[in-house]
Amino acid sequence: MLAHRTSLFSSSGTAAARLAAAESSASGKAPIDMTAGEIVADLIEPIREGAIKAIASNAARYTDTIGMPRLRETIAKKVSRETGQAWSEREIAVTAGAKQALFNTAMCLFDPGDQVIIPTPCWGTFPAQARLAGATPVFIETRWNGFIPRTEDIERVMTPLTRAIVINTPNNPTGAVYDAKTLHEIASLAIERQVWVVFDECYGVFAHDGSQHHQIVSLAPQLRERLIIVNAFSKSLAMTGWRVGYMAAPERVIAAVRALQSHTTSNPNVIAQHAVLHYLEGNDGSHEEALRIRVRAARDIGLEVLSALRDIPLAAASGGFYFYLDLTALGSHPMSKDATPIADLVARSLLSHAGVATVSGSAFGDPNGLRVSYGIDAPSVREGCRRLVSHLNAWPRPETQLSSHDNVGEWR
Ligand code: PLP
Repeated sequence: MLAHRTSLFSSSGTAAARLAAAESSASGKAPIDMTAGEIVADLIEPIREGAIKAIASNAARYTDTIGMPRLRETIAKKVSRETGQAWSEREIAVTAGAKQALFNTAMCLFDPGDQVIIPTPCWGTFPAQARLAGATPVFIETRWNGFIPRTEDIERVMTPLTRAIVINTPNNPTGAVYDAKTLHEIASLAIERQVWVVFDECYGVFAHDGSQHHQIVSLAPQLRERLIIVNAFSKSLAMTGWRVGYMAAPERVIAAVRALQSHTTSNPNVIAQHAVLHYLEGNDGSHEEALRIRVRAARDIGLEVLSALRDIPLAAASGGFYFYLDLTALGSHPMSKDATPIADLVARSLLSHAGVATVSGSAFGDPNGLRVSYGIDAPSVREGCRRLVSHLNAWPRPETQLSSHDNVGEWR
C-alpha cells in the first residue's frame, strides 16, 4: 500500500500532454508540439562558458545548502534592482528551479487545515503542493475578468483559515499580466488580513505589447514581511533542464528553508550554480532581450493566424509564451457520452487528426481552455496555428451538432 499522501496528487497534466506528443512522434506521426512549458532555443553562451569553467576548475563538492554565498549576493542585487529596495543574501535561497522554491514555501508556511487562495485557471503544481502540505486550495475563477483576479472575489472566499494568496504573473496558462491596480489591491488585502502572498514571477521577462510586469512589493512595500518572491532562470534564459531558481523572503523563512533543504536536496547542482553566477556577473540584459524579441515575433505570427478563428475569441497573450483559447463557444462534443470536458476532446482530436499537440485546460482546472505554446520556432508556430484554425473552424458548433447516433468516425 502506498502512503495516503499519494492520493493527493497525480502526475502533472502538462507532463502528460508532453508525453502524448512524444508518443505520437514515436509512432511516426510527428505532430507540431505546442505543449512546451519552455522556450526551445540554443543554450546561451555565458551559461555554457560558466559551466565549462566550473568543470575545468574541478567544482564537484557540496556548496552551502541554499546556494553559494556569492550567487546569493548576486541574486540579492538582482532582486534589489528589480524591486527598488535593498535585499540581502540572508533573504535569498537558491533552489532546484522555481518548483522547489514553491515546495519549500508550502512546507515552511502551510499547516494542515490552512486555506490557500489560487486564481484559476492555474498551473497545477500550486494546488498539488498546497495539498501535500495538508492545506486546502480555494479557487477563484478569473475567466470573467480577462483572467485577472478581482479583489472582491478573493475577499469573498477569505476566512480565518486563509493562510496565503498565490499570484502568478505573467500567468501560466492564461498569459494574463496583472495590472498595478490589481496587485496593489491584493497586497493591501493581504496586509490587512495578515496572510502571505506567494508571488511567482517566472515569466516576468515576457510581457508583450505594452503590458508591463510589476513587482508587487514595489507597489506595496509593507507587504515585504509577508511576501515570498519566486523566480527562476528556467524560462527567462531558456534553461529549464539546468534547474536553478530562487526565492526571496523574510530571513526567518529563509532560515526554515535552509533547514528543510538540508534534509531534502541539499544545494542545487554546483555546475549550474556556477553557470548562473557567471551569467549574472556579466549580465547586460542582452540575452533576455534576444529571447524576448524571438518570443514576441513568434507570438505576433501566431496571433495573426489565430485571428481567423471562428467564434473563439482571440487570445490576449499579454505575457509568457502561451496562447490560451476559450473554447466555450464549441459547447460539448455531440459524440461524448460521458462528461468529457470539451478541452480534452479538442486537445485529443487536434493531436490525432490535425497533428498539433496542445495542453487541455483540464490540466489547469479549466474544462473550457486550451493552452498553445509559442515557445517553439516561428515556422512551427505558424503551421501549428494554421492547422489549429482549420480544425477548430470545422468543429461542429452546438446548433449544428450531429445527432447522437452518427458515427464518431465520420466526424473530423
Ligand atoms: N511557476 C510557474 C508558473 C510555471 O509555469 C513553472 C513551470 O512551468 C514553474 C514555476 C517551474 O519552473 P522551474 O522549471 O524553474 O521549476
